[in-house]
Amino acid sequence: MTTSFSYQTELPLYAEADVVVAGGGPAGIGAALAAARNGASVLLIEQRGFLGGMATVSLVPSYTPYSDREKPVIRGIGYEILQALKEAMQQGLKEKFRDVIDWVPIEPENLKLILDAKMQEAGVRLLYHTFISDVIRGEGGRIDALVIHNKSGSRAVKAKWFVDATSDADLVWRAGGAFQKGDDGGELQPATMCFVLSRLNRSRFEAFASEHGPLHTHIERAKESGELKVLHNWAAFSFYNESDCGFNFGHVTGIDGSNADDLTRGAVEGRKLVHHIADWLRRRIPGFEQAVVAQTGEQIGIRETRRIVGDYTVTFDDFTSCRSFPDDIARNAYYIDVHLSKPLLDGKTYIDKIFLPPGKSHGIPYRALLPVGFANLFVAGRSISADRTTQGSMRVMPTCFAFGEAAGTAGALLTQANGTDTRDVDIDALQRQLVKQGAWIGEDHLQEG
Ligand SMILES: Cc1cc2nc3c(=O)[nH]c(=O)nc-3n(C[C@H](O)[C@H](O)[C@H](O)COP(=O)(O)OP(=O)(O)OC[C@H]3O[C@@H](n4cnc5c(N)ncnc54)[C@H](O)[C@@H]3O)c2cc1C
Repeated sequence: MTTSFSYQTELPLYAEADVVVAGGGPAGIGAALAAARNGASVLLIEQRGFLGGMATVSLVPSYTPYSDREKPVIRGIGYEILQALKEAMQQGLKEKFRDVIDWVPIEPENLKLILDAKMQEAGVRLLYHTFISDVIRGEGGRIDALVIHNKSGSRAVKAKWFVDATSDADLVWRAGGAFQKGDDGGELQPATMCFVLSRLNRSRFEAFASEHGPLHTHIERAKESGELKVLHNWAAFSFYNESDCGFNFGHVTGIDGSNADDLTRGAVEGRKLVHHIADWLRRRIPGFEQAVVAQTGEQIGIRETRRIVGDYTVTFDDFTSCRSFPDDIARNAYYIDVHLSKPLLDGKTYIDKIFLPPGKSHGIPYRALLPVGFANLFVAGRSISADRTTQGSMRVMPTCFAFGEAAGTAGALLTQANGTDTRDVDIDALQRQLVKQGAWIGEDHLQEG
């Protein structure tokens, strides 16, 4: 029986750019905008027909905190997008979030529109509905081109610098680079099919919750009685207005988001779980009586897949000791937030959370964006080089914007300087430029002034 086929084809060149960004999530957005605003020609390739990554693809309903509970830590492009999103909110919500930068709700259609416009303003060339399926390697650790597939066929894309912002390190994987995945036993954080419920009565729900306790206490009871079949009692939700609310609730275990069969099972099981949850909310929670499932994620939300092996790997010790590095390009203050598929020793806790004190953060060095063995490739986003626990903190969208902004800025600076390796970058110049753009890389680094 034939178990494999050989298939060769000539690939016409579709485009060439200084910087090609693979993936349009927070990391890819930061990278594309930063590179283009610094004068590089940029092509951003995204498999969906819109930008935003998990916020729009999988309907993750809010941005984790931008602050360290005392001051903004994520600034620059990520902050600019947060402000634009707040500006686009409906009246009422807009007032509520005017001075808030932590846990801001994401209305996905507003975000898509904002991001399209920002790319156009910056002169980024967009290519949607296009999957990057392979990498053509050249000499000396260089990537020569990417292989892309879309409605127009299969073609190649060339660049001086590539940013892998696919969140699964697809480019590194296809090019045979080193990576890790999950814990020592291959365990990965569970996935979640996020969803939007419409036709809610927010005031009625809030009155109920203030009198009878928050939603999670009701979930806990329903879970214990067997009425609600969810892994644990945790649910995050954000109202977009009086009647529509985004939910990040319910886990599907055993899903490897870099495996198409698993993603398929996640889609089927995830949607089923959403309707089970919605049915329970409708029957049991005042304010939800008329709830309709308006939307589920186009893909189940994936918290964890590959982590590259970079020139530096950010560790749990770096996190707890709030370490700074001479080549810091961003800082992170978000807590360790590892969702588990089996409870901790107490038999109840399904999220491993470790917080830094208020006002504290740790640095992320440029070297964590550089996959070992590659000369012209950056990795930005949740697959950057970190140990598993620390990835459980740095994976969130605000920090991913910052990683992308650093990679894109470095790509543009290297283009101007005719560099040949990502390690050629002038770190002082990169840090100065990031600060000039409004990014924050810590008190020890010069601030714009
Ligand atoms: C259920 C869940 C809840 C979460 N909750 C929060 C939260 O409350 N707040 C928060 O800030 N963060 C949260 N996170 C984390 C956060 O959403 C992600 O870790 C973050 O979006 C990662 O950013 P990224 O840019 O690396 O990748 P992504 O956001 O995953 O974007 C990657 C993009 O690349 C595209 N892509 C991938 N491969 C290819 C390819 N081969 N060809 C073309 N395009 C490709 C994808 O379509 C996607 O648009 C949550 C995550 C999940 C899954």
